[in-house]
Amino acid sequence: MIDTPTPDESPVPPPVSERDRRFMALAQAAAEEARAAGEVPVGAVLVRGDEVIAKGFNHPIGAHDPSAHAEMIALRAAAQAVENYRLPGCELYVTLEPCLMCAGAIMHARVARVVFGARDPKTGACGSVVDAFANPQLNHHTTVTGGVLETECGDALKSFFAERRRASREARAAARSEAHVVASSEAHPEVHVEVRGEARAGDADAHSEPGSVEPL
Ligand SMILES: [Zn+2]
Repeated sequence: MIDTPTPDESPVPPPVSERDRRFMALAQAAAEEARAAGEVPVGAVLVRGDEVIAKGFNHPIGAHDPSAHAEMIALRAAAQAVENYRLPGCELYVTLEPCLMCAGAIMHARVARVVFGARDPKTGACGSVVDAFANPQLNHHTTVTGGVLETECGDALKSFFAERRRASREARAAARSEAHVVASSEAHPEVHVEVRGEARAGDADAHSEPGSVEPL
């Protein structure tokens, strides 16, 4: 295979190193904290040299905060730790491709490099939907490496959504079964209505997932 670059070809990204895999594994551990909190499991760590200076996990539901993505939490914590809103020379490792909001914050912080795991075909802003970092008018500081431990990072998200769909199906089946028992025992109408109400509440909950990050 001939790999001589042509003059207008984009620069070849650096190969994935053992170091990248090691820091991505720490981001995966942060993602598991999100899962434990019932949030979509995305995690991030902010690295300077060989030191992790901050980590973050996704928790917009618990925080009532649409900006509480893993990257935003890690950026805020890192900026506090170094007492500087700019983080030059730092690298951000995150298990899912950053969205536009996070891409913007990463650029404002002048992070030197972003390394992400799974691609996000719904809101990814590093090439999947848009490529914010490819715009030279926006981005002067940040290089991007995608697909580090991509399968593992993606599997963590897939298992989370599969489990949630299963729980939702079981809740609906239980509500239907309960409604059937109430109906067949000729219960008072108001009791029947109450059960149907619970079933509807279960359905609504099933659609309340913070929609952006479910990968295909
Ligand atoms: Zn984001």
